[in-house]
Amino acid sequence: MHRAPRSLIPLSISHSCSHSMVSSSSFASRRPFWTRHTEYAQSMAPRTSVDEFKELVSSGNRILALCGAGLSAASGLPTFRGAGGLWRNHEATSLATPDAFEADPSLVWLFYAWRRHMALKAQPNRGHYALAELAKKKDNFLCLTQNVDGLSPRAGHPESKLRLLHGSILDNKCFNGCGYVDRNNLSDPVCPALAPAAEDYPPDQTLPLLDPFVPIPPINVADLPHCPSCRTGLLRPGVVWFGEPLDSLMIMEVENWIMRGPIDIMLVVGTAATVYPAAGYTRKAQRRGAVVAVVNPDPDSAAGLSQNDFFFQGDAAQVLPQLFEGVIGKLDDEN
Ligand SMILES: [Zn+2]
Repeated sequence: MHRAPRSLIPLSISHSCSHSMVSSSSFASRRPFWTRHTEYAQSMAPRTSVDEFKELVSSGNRILALCGAGLSAASGLPTFRGAGGLWRNHEATSLATPDAFEADPSLVWLFYAWRRHMALKAQPNRGHYALAELAKKKDNFLCLTQNVDGLSPRAGHPESKLRLLHGSILDNKCFNGCGYVDRNNLSDPVCPALAPAAEDYPPDQTLPLLDPFVPIPPINVADLPHCPSCRTGLLRPGVVWFGEPLDSLMIMEVENWIMRGPIDIMLVVGTAATVYPAAGYTRKAQRRGAVVAVVNPDPDSAAGLSQNDFFFQGDAAQVLPQLFEGVIGKLDDEN
């Protein structure tokens, strides 16, 4: 069959082809497809009124929040998969597994020692502080975070109203599974052998550790942190690695909180509401009556929201203090 060169295809045709999934007969009209699509999008679009949402927060009783990497973006932390997802030519995700640690604990520790250093150098932003203040003001607010950077606890978020779904990069636990956990270890570097991962360098220069052409300094496994309890295991970062389950006790606590009664607001910050685990919690909260509010710079993260929900396009550090102002007042400037 003859096909016209792409440059000759009329714009309206190529556009409707690219949206064939929503081009059903139920939207039939004489207008060009893209116009109908826009009308549909507008009629179903989530609310964006800050004032309306402020009222909802003020009157809301049970509020659940789920936060992702976007919450810490304004603190300058590189995302886990940033820079093409490579760390010294290793897929960053391939270093975050028990198998990788078993195979080369020195390499995995260097990766985490570098991420620890970045997290400890970063400061909580106004988004972290706004959530922490809301938690102090609202008895029935629970915040779940996928971030392991420790910035929410450092912003003073009450521990009882915060669940670190993926653990904390500042915790060290025994790789042997003896149960030992060293919580909130602020040493940087975490041990002398990992000092190359904790160097500061001018912004215009690459840290030697991050240059794949600079050989990694040899690190003896004996010089890595060891478990003081069983005295046989290595300590490992207290984060949840790929292939590992989330803490079952914590998940049960979250489930119990969700089941305790109707939920007024489900806040999804800096992560896509349609992706696990946010999608699962969002659905559960919706079943208990929650209005969903997404805060994210990426408009795609609003996919699936109804006209009863809210979408605030922007950075959490700027948006959250405004949204909570009716409850927490104005944040101090130094925050
Ligand atoms: Zn141990």
